[in-house]
Amino acid sequence: PRLANQIAAGEVVERPASVVKELVENSLDAGATNIEVQVERGGQNKLLIRDNGGGIDKQQLVLALSRHATSKVHSLDDIESIATLGFRGEALASISSVSRLTLTSRPPQQTEAWLAYAEGRDMQVQLKPAAHPVGTTVEVADLFFNTPARRKFLRADKTEFHHIDELIKRLALSRFDVGFALSHNGKSIRNLPRCNTDVAKLKRLQMICGAGFCRDLVQIEQDAGTLKLAGWLLKPMACQVQNPPQYTFINGRMIRDKVVTHAIKQAYAAVVSDTSLAGYVLYIDLPFDQVDVNVHPTKHEVRFIETRLVHDFVVQAVAQALQQTQL
Ligand code: ADP
Ligand code: MG
Repeated sequence: PRLANQIAAGEVVERPASVVKELVENSLDAGATNIEVQVERGGQNKLLIRDNGGGIDKQQLVLALSRHATSKVHSLDDIESIATLGFRGEALASISSVSRLTLTSRPPQQTEAWLAYAEGRDMQVQLKPAAHPVGTTVEVADLFFNTPARRKFLRADKTEFHHIDELIKRLALSRFDVGFALSHNGKSIRNLPRCNTDVAKLKRLQMICGAGFCRDLVQIEQDAGTLKLAGWLLKPMACQVQNPPQYTFINGRMIRDKVVTHAIKQAYAAVVSDTSLAGYVLYIDLPFDQVDVNVHPTKHEVRFIETRLVHDFVVQAVAQALQQTQL
């Protein structure tokens, strides 16, 4: 199975940031409220993701490292309404096939923790007892040690870490109810405690998007029945800073969609001359059967069933919010 896993890994595991994405999504799926990400040498030496989620049973640990054992997609209906973040059932096996991966976990009903790792050509999964609080730690050492071609494509540590940091920022903007901590080479880079209040949310927004963004914000909240738009926009008169935050989330997932981006720019075009300086953190929610998230395996793309409807709704909602600031 090692070869099959490595082929699958080609789709899922492009670089350290894609590993972190899969593992943090697993932690979120497991109901974690605190997630810690430790990175060494841009993730090439070590990635460690620790969570306080529901953990994995001793029996399930072995399965979790075996490909396709856990796929949650059993029918077409499942595919059409995937509400949890992970669904391919192969991330852990794929990552394990291109690194030295250990999985340590303790579910609340177990008094002891167990550590699992795959070994040898046939990737036999071994188990041994370990010390761990309730939750899970995945440690990924020597990423791509056995796939030199892929290793060669890795950029400088700084660049790879930057991708991880961007990912954590996006995840933190999509889950204010979860605490995130990120460190690089032992140094704390981000500490984002979970937010229970609006004040705490704004503080996180500021820590991620900068004080400049938060000084001149318009809050937006539009509800057109099944279509909802919420979030923050930079006031037109403040659209001068280079590289303003431009984040869009669709059903809780960070997505850069051409239709949505175009709509936002169109709304800004009425009030600012350079729409590349528009800043926004926007959340669109719509029924799961109105959007197809399976366009691409890395899930950065979507396809709307009613493209025009979504586009026009976003234009109208953003334009209206921006106009109110002009009064
Ligand atoms: P998928 O998430 O698509 O099911 P993965 O290979 O990413 O596939 O994970 C396999 C399984 O291992 C998951 O379905 C889940 O049951 C379990 N698992 C993985 N990571 C965690 C975690 N951090 N906490 C609890 N369970 C986990
Ligand atoms: Mg997963």
